[in-house]
Formats: sequence, structure tokens, C-alpha cells
Amino acid sequence: MKVLKFGGTSVGTPARMKDVSKFITADGERKLVVLSAMSGTTNSLVEISKYYYNQNAAGAGDIINKMRGTYLEHVDNLYSTDKVKQEVSKFINEKFDYLLTFANMEFTGKEEKIILAQGELISTYMVSHYLVETGINAVLLPALNFMKTDADSEPDLNYISEHIQPLITDKNVQIYITQGFICRNANGDIDNLQRGGSDYTASLVGAAIQAEEIQIWTDIDGMHNNDPRVVDKTSPVRQLNFEEAAELAYFGAKILHPTCIQPAKFANIPVKLLNTMQPDAPGTTIDNRIQHGTIKAVAAKENITAIKIKSGRMLLAYGFLRKVFEIFETYKTPIDMICTSEVGVSVSIDNTANLETILQELRKYGTVTVDKGLCIVCVVGDMEWENVGFEARALDALKDIPVRMISYGGSNYNISFLINESDKQRALQSLSDHLFNGK
Ligand code: ASP
Ligand code: MG
Repeated sequence: MKVLKFGGTSVGTPARMKDVSKFITADGERKLVVLSAMSGTTNSLVEISKYYYNQNAAGAGDIINKMRGTYLEHVDNLYSTDKVKQEVSKFINEKFDYLLTFANMEFTGKEEKIILAQGELISTYMVSHYLVETGINAVLLPALNFMKTDADSEPDLNYISEHIQPLITDKNVQIYITQGFICRNANGDIDNLQRGGSDYTASLVGAAIQAEEIQIWTDIDGMHNNDPRVVDKTSPVRQLNFEEAAELAYFGAKILHPTCIQPAKFANIPVKLLNTMQPDAPGTTIDNRIQHGTIKAVAAKENITAIKIKSGRMLLAYGFLRKVFEIFETYKTPIDMICTSEVGVSVSIDNTANLETILQELRKYGTVTVDKGLCIVCVVGDMEWENVGFEARALDALKDIPVRMISYGGSNYNISFLINESDKQRALQSLSDHLFNGK
């Protein structure tokens, strides 16, 4: 069975819901379909939660009632029989009534997560009822019955496998629909896989049922070799291996959620990024093949801070790096890039929530300098060190741009540069021209 995931815009209007339904049923194959909330819904639910945090029930109520109106209109446009219209309207009214009940209680992260889960619960209810109304044998699988995270907030793949497999054995069912994004945590409370997490759900479910393929459907033709919003002349990359895709997703390719690659890679299931607007186009396939000696793509991540710790004590000493890294560990701050010399070390981070405290601690070990407003540019491909010339080509493209750090050799798949955010566009364009467009 294949797993197909459609994001918010693909189910963003009744017309798009009808298109998706037609699309997933056209070939008659059995499928498991993961859906996001209708586009804009999760953002509105976040906003409702903000009002509740601020004890402003009227503010929350305004948004809830506006959303209710829109959804009821969608119901009217989506279904053809009064019976189904009534049934789905009742469900939607119950959901929005429920959202209003948070007015009179203490509001914490736990309540917020319940609120955030409603978008996917509604969109999947709507689409599965539409499929059934049009005569398709479709079944709605409640993700809250099998998607689970453990005490470290990591998905529990064994639990997910064990609980989803018995639900999908009926050979007469053509389409299983389930919710992306939402799950239960180790306490059994409603939780989620972070914003954009529906891709992750698809990958986890794919791994859990040993799907033959995981398809992520969006509105662009696969992963591009550079950011099409920033540079001219980008083109889709036909194939990436799992590592390359993970680097690109982490370093800024918005099409795929960074965590999504891991479960698919682990289960060795190909992931395809496909375009609903051009369903026959090949898109991007992510699998375990390596195309030797090929640079595939460039991505960039902004809002990066570099910290340099310089110390005479580092010279010929051991244990210095451990002390430095322990500080970042204590304050739960992941490090992206690292460069060392005999007398200093520079690291880059993107989470600055604990920056001031981290700097205080680091000052015990040396002279600390901080550079803000930086950007990591990551060049991805088969960069195995015995290949020659790749570093030189990337460096040559950046010859007119000040570079704060360079990192190469950490994996076989990337070379990363840390530059000023203000040089990002120039750097990405030059890399595209040099690496892909033969200039
Ligand atoms: N609806 C969630 C969000 O907007 C999850 C997703 O769409 O992937 O973040
Ligand atoms: Mg997304």
C-alpha cells in the first residue's frame, strides 16, 4: 500500500477537497491518505489559543465564530445530500462549541494542544464523508489511537506499528484517511509533531505499515536545486538520497519537514515529492541511491548566531571542547556548525532563547565574541572527500562574499558556509550560476 500526504492548500477549499478525492480514487488502488488541516486553520487555532492565554475569551470567540461560518459554508458546497450536510454540520458545530468551552478554565500548553488538533480532525472528517457520499469505501482512522510519542517526545514507532496495522486489514476498504500532525504523548494527552508535522506523520505511518512508497503532494514540482523565491533559474532535482534530502530540509528547503526523512530512511521506503498541479511530472524521489560526484542542490537557513570562544588554554589541551559543548547541552541548545583551531572554537546556533546565560558560562573558559544576523548556506551532493574539485567550485562561487565559517567533512554530503544574511541572495544566485547553470 502507498501512503499519500496532502497539505493544507490541497484541502483548502471544497473544490480542492473534491479534486483530491477524485485524484486518490482514480486508479482504484488501496491507499492510506494523510491530510493536514485546511490551509490557514492551524494558524487561526494558534491565534485562538493566544487569546485564551491572555484571558480574552471574547477575542477567541470572534475567531471561532468566523471560522464556524466559513466551515459551514464549505459543508454546503462540498456535499450534495441534505443527510450528509446535516451530519457534517453537526460535527463541525460540536467542534466549534467545544472550542468555546475553553473560556472558563485555566489555559496551559495542554489545552493549546487540544485546540491545535481540531483542524486535522475536521478536515479528515470532511473528506472521508465526501468520499463515502460519492460511493467510495473509505474509512477514517483516528490518528489519536495510534500516533504516539514517548517520554522524550520522540515518536514511538513500535507502538505506532502495533496499533495501526490491525486497523488496515480490510481488503474491501479502498481509502484509509488519517490526520497528519496530531498524536498522543507519553501521558496519553493530545499533542502534536510540531508545525508542519503532517509530513512526519506520513513518513512514520509509511514506516509503520512498511508502505511501498510515501508520496508528499504539494503545489510545486519537487525539491528545487535552489530557493525559487530567492534566485532565478532553479530546477527540480529528480533524485536525492536520504542524507542529502535531510540536509536540505534542515537547512531551509521548505517543501519537506526536516524530521520527515528519518523514519523513511530507517525503513528504506522511497519518498516522492509530487505536484498536484502536474500529477504526471516525475517530481523528486528520495531513496538510498547515490549519484556519484554530483552536486545536487543549495539551501540556506537564516537567523543564525555564531559564537567564538578563544582561549590560550585550548592550546595542546584536552577536555576544552567537552566543557564548551556541555554548556550548550545544559541549556538544550543545538549546535549546527563547528569550526576549530588550536586556540579557539566557533559554533553556530539558531535557537537563541538561552544565549545570554550560555555566554555567561562560556566566559569562564575564554574570550567570547558573538556575530548575529548570519545565514548558513549549505551545498549538498556526493561530496565524498576523494572526489576532487567540488569544494573549489563552491568556494569559487563565493569568492566575492565575506565568509565567517566553512564546514566540510562532517558528512559525505555537504559543505556549509556561514555568511551575512545580507549576502544571502547574492551567494545563492552565484552558487546556482556556477554549480548548475554553467556560468
Ligand atoms: N496543520 C499543521 C500546520 O499547519 C500541520 C501541517 O500542515 O503539516 O502546521
Ligand atoms: Mg508542510
